[in-house]
Amino acid sequence: PGDQLPADPEKPTLVVLGSGWGATSFLKTLDTEEFNVVVISPRNYFLFTPLLPSVTVGTLEPRSIIQPTRYITRHKKRKVDVYEAEAQEVDPIKKTVTFQDMSDIRGAAGSVTIPYDYLVYAVGCENQTFGIKGVPEYACFLKELSDADKVRTKLLDCIETAAFKNQPESEIDRLMHMVVVGGGPTGVEYAGELHDFLIDDLKKWYPEIADRLRITLIEALPNVLPAFSKQLIQYTESTFAENKIDVLTRTMVKDVKERSVVVQDANKEIREIPYGLLVWATGNTSRNITRDLMGKLTSAQTQRRGLLVDDYLRLLGADGVYAVGDCTATQYAPTAQVASQQGIYLAQLFGKLGQKAKLERQLAQLRSQGDVGSAEIEGVVKKLNRVSKLTEFHYSHQGSLAYIGSEKAIADLPFFNNNLASGGGAAMLFWRSAYISTLYSVRNRTLVLADWAKVKIFGRDVSRE
Ligand code: FAD
Ligand code: NAD
Repeated sequence: PGDQLPADPEKPTLVVLGSGWGATSFLKTLDTEEFNVVVISPRNYFLFTPLLPSVTVGTLEPRSIIQPTRYITRHKKRKVDVYEAEAQEVDPIKKTVTFQDMSDIRGAAGSVTIPYDYLVYAVGCENQTFGIKGVPEYACFLKELSDADKVRTKLLDCIETAAFKNQPESEIDRLMHMVVVGGGPTGVEYAGELHDFLIDDLKKWYPEIADRLRITLIEALPNVLPAFSKQLIQYTESTFAENKIDVLTRTMVKDVKERSVVVQDANKEIREIPYGLLVWATGNTSRNITRDLMGKLTSAQTQRRGLLVDDYLRLLGADGVYAVGDCTATQYAPTAQVASQQGIYLAQLFGKLGQKAKLERQLAQLRSQGDVGSAEIEGVVKKLNRVSKLTEFHYSHQGSLAYIGSEKAIADLPFFNNNLASGGGAAMLFWRSAYISTLYSVRNRTLVLADWAKVKIFGRDVSRE
């Protein structure tokens, strides 16, 4: 890090918003020599979201699946500025970003506005609530590390309170009823982890009430996991049935109260379901800053779902802005796989922009020397033409994996133009090894493996922090 080149006022400023899948894979691959890079994100670390459901019940410890953003930037050629702050506004006309420290200790700096030459916009999404009343107040989400912590704490709180002396029977039933809304992969994986906790630990530590724990998964569509193949949907639903996880399909949550959810089933009948813990996983919606940006580019940005980009991930209607990941509206699903491939692609594209700038400088210098042979100039021009040719982004789908509990996973894998669908223990081993190999660092891999081993030997820790 001591050998890093300092900022160079002659080089363009590249601002990166976010430290998630898109931004991190971009930063990891980027050659920073030709740019002054500034990273702005309210989170000063990268979070490995695929393993987040495991944190909710203590299968994994929170810090095992995160990696500081500075860990990446300190190894870059040129010094990178990292600010733990929230971008509040992007002005695509003036080409500026305004950001502010939103943490508990704010200091005296206030909000800051900086200019950019290039902007990589990778702020992800926020949780979709469909404007349903009570969701933000009473439900727990499962997107950030703090959400998983909250779920873990609340789960143990419900269990301890249910075990309290003279707790009325009806209250035990309510407290021990864990409701998950949304049968996408997030809801399914959480329900699976919760089931494991019940079987492996709750029965051991709370034998008097363990049998009262019930898990209900509520899904508005006719089945869970609409993005997976039919065979794997059936496998998941039958595994859940065996594991006594109630799946209420064609059922839509209409209202959320402090102790119950109001649902409407396929026959339009309305009923109230009491719960102790409510986990809300109904997908994504755009962040305010993204909506605001769309509002400034109304003629080009016409999709409410997210930002529109061209085949090179350039934001439509703006100059020098690129967008990746969940904040975009493309033909691809909002997944880590897509965001990380887009980040890598964009870093390669910036690699070409950097080389182009270098060659242009070289060419200007050669031309100014006057006595240089035309062959040398021609050589540089040829190279310039080569790096100026950009190729479009192409996504390569590596398959979909999800953990469904009781040491079983499902895997939908593209296989010689066919689909290989597999569910069970072998898929679970595949799931584990795939995630271990894609984890960020050797440190993360070691911690996750150690957590898995710890849980196998000692069980999960049931103390409430
Ligand atoms: P994110 O990773 O969400 O990153 C957004 C970043 O922007 C964050 O660092 C955030 O702090 C920052 N940010 C937010 N607001 C601002 C602001 N105003 N200014 C600056 N920065 C800001 N996908 C898979 O492919 N496989 C899986 O197994 C899988 N499992 C998942 C499990 C869970 C529980 C969840 C929630 C998601 C899972 N996903 C999975 C989806 C995957 O996590 C997302 O598609 C991916 O994170 C998108 O990457 P991104 O960079 O667009 O956004
Ligand atoms: P999702 O959008 O995939 O699923 C949300 C589900 O909630 C939908 O099936 C929807 O019908 C349901 N729903 C919406 N409103 C409802 C209501 N009022 N009542 C009942 N049900 C309702 O959301 P997700 O699971 O959070 O996933 C988000 C993205 O992240 C997806 O692209 C997903 O593929 C990805 N992801 C992938 C994995 C994995 O590959 N293992 C894990 C988690 C997330």
